[in-house]
Amino acid sequence: MDAEIIGFATEKLANLEARDLRRSLKPTSRRGAAATRDDDTLISFSDNDYLGLGTEPEVIAAGIDAAKKFGAGAGASRLVTGDVPLNQRVEDRLAAIKGTEAALLFGSGYLANIGAIPVLAGPEDVIILDELSHSCIHAGAALSRARVIRFRHNDVDHAAQVLRDAAPFRRALIITETVFSMDGDRAPLQDLAALCANHHAWLMTDDAHGLGVIDANNPAPVQMGTLSKAAGAYGGYVCGPQALIDLLVNRARSFVYTTGLPPFVLGAADKALEIIASDKARREKVLANARLFCRLAGLDEPQSAIVPLILGEADAALAFSARLQAEGFLVTAIRPPTVPEGTARLRFAFSALHREADIRRLAENVNSFRAAA
Ligand SMILES: *Cc1c(COP(=O)(O)O)cnc(C)c1O
Repeated sequence: MDAEIIGFATEKLANLEARDLRRSLKPTSRRGAAATRDDDTLISFSDNDYLGLGTEPEVIAAGIDAAKKFGAGAGASRLVTGDVPLNQRVEDRLAAIKGTEAALLFGSGYLANIGAIPVLAGPEDVIILDELSHSCIHAGAALSRARVIRFRHNDVDHAAQVLRDAAPFRRALIITETVFSMDGDRAPLQDLAALCANHHAWLMTDDAHGLGVIDANNPAPVQMGTLSKAAGAYGGYVCGPQALIDLLVNRARSFVYTTGLPPFVLGAADKALEIIASDKARREKVLANARLFCRLAGLDEPQSAIVPLILGEADAALAFSARLQAEGFLVTAIRPPTVPEGTARLRFAFSALHREADIRRLAENVNSFRAAA
């Protein structure tokens, strides 16, 4: 039996290797914008910790206080004894930031999507997704057993056509990201909301890369996201009307059947959200850094903290990343299946902690490698 499993895995891995798609883990220690791996300290342009809150002493101290008070783990699911009092505080902060009635925390953003989507839609319904939606949105849609149809990226006319062609159905749920994770562009939320209003469809957004960076003025009644990116901690959430939140508490499987978030994470997230709500200078700095880089590298004006440089094949992206690493920059190559075939890229993620001199040197290196290619 062992030999069979080993043979199966080895063959699959060799196949990935042959296409430059095999990935492996690389232990990395982060401090601010610095990342140390293989004894090399690099300036990281690959973190989603856009505001630098993940290594902010105040955030860490709040996490430690919470762990001292409530323990290392929640001890049970929230519906049993795992509802550490800090959950409600973090949920209140999220609802206030998003302007919704209520919010519910999940173990991660992935768990929020695979839990909430099947509560909102079922077998008689249709889910219409932007084709570049994150893997966990696709996973949630598949678990719902609704009919799932993709529309062309950010193409509201195509979404409308897909919606018309999908009839008859009981209900329609349209899902998109506020800020696309691998492209950094933003969804036409007002147009999608208008489409939903005209067709009695519901709009749900994934704000994983927006929270703390973009003030979206988001019209969607259901807004999920994560505390693992700009909030620097961990955990997912869904914000929406109180009745929907109460239903998720009862019905979302990835909420009901899993342990509550650990106190450290809740304490850290609570402090991080307090900073996000009050410190606008940090978010302005992130976007100013992204804009500076794009201007220097001759790229289009960025719409978020994320700037892609599309290179095509996986080997080209890997080689470019290795050259930047030799110059002291950590910019990981993003390859299929994370992005569509033929669109392997470098993904630059800017932080409020990046220094202007480092961004200038990064842009110079990028420009000279592109000129040589
Ligand atoms: C990272 C991410 C998630 C998952 O969030 P986690 O908290 O890391 O599980 C969901 N959606 C999008 C768009 C993401 O980028």
